[in-house]
Amino acid sequence: MIVTRSSEEAARWARAYRTAGLSTGFVPTLGGLHEGHHSLLRRARSECEKVIASVYLNPTQFHSAEDLEKYPASEEEDLAALRRERADLVYLGRAADLLPDGFQSWVDVEILTRPLCGAFRPGHFRGVTTVVAQLFSIIRPHRAYFGLKDYQQAAVVRRMARDLSLGVEIRLCPTVREASGLAISSRNRRLSAGEREAACVVHRALEAARRAIEAGEDRIQVLLAALEQQLGSEPLFRTEYAEIVDAATLERFGGGRIEWGERGVLVAVAGYIGSVRLIDSEWIEARP
Ligand code: AMP
Repeated sequence: MIVTRSSEEAARWARAYRTAGLSTGFVPTLGGLHEGHHSLLRRARSECEKVIASVYLNPTQFHSAEDLEKYPASEEEDLAALRRERADLVYLGRAADLLPDGFQSWVDVEILTRPLCGAFRPGHFRGVTTVVAQLFSIIRPHRAYFGLKDYQQAAVVRRMARDLSLGVEIRLCPTVREASGLAISSRNRRLSAGEREAACVVHRALEAARRAIEAGEDRIQVLLAALEQQLGSEPLFRTEYAEIVDAATLERFGGGRIEWGERGVLVAVAGYIGSVRLIDSEWIEARP
């Protein structure tokens, strides 16, 4: 496994793979690698001849200094995990390369970033898309792998790749969960045992919404009331948003009922347990 902190060297290796006619799969991460990241690496391994990962704790996508400081990541453990998952090339990004002094060339996906997380975390997606665009232009992968846990992020990156003709195919991968249903996240390490149990309310509530939709309920008010009531039953969980939206546009349905469009429906929740922010969603791809 080649490990480099140099963007030039990472670009050189990635170019050598391409020139040799090998397909490349790229998995960008913030570090703090866990089963969710491993699943993306395995999918890339199964579809591409060379697997490239990046680890860069991108400061521009964090909404608070505390969240950034407390982000649990260990370079040594990340590299061990990447070796186990048989990555070929690891780029350890540095701010000096990715956000150099005087940086002013932001990439902003305008509309898809407005609802859901975008409404509560101004500048977050601009930070994500700018750094992902940077990474894509260094690595120039054939395919890049993103988790559905961060559905809006994946949708925004896919839009950017299409709008800017970046030549990268965006692959979306299912959310990896603990046995309790809790979506695995680096931030979960900051939850106590009791808080971790409380956090399961999110998946339980989302699953109940999915079941109701699959059983034919299409009234948004009814679905949202049930979702909010379940989330409210857990005193440790503070809801930031609970939404049912068109999975293509991420917009609410105008008529008060679900309308089945090209990508189906997304039920999405974000909230806090203590200072730990949790997000999760259920994607119902087509009319049941
Ligand atoms: P992060 O390091 O949190 O930016 O995550 C890097 C990639 O891993 C993103 O595409 C995430 O959506 C994905 N990811 C994070 N957690 C999970 C999970 N539990 N299941 C699947 N993918 C995940």
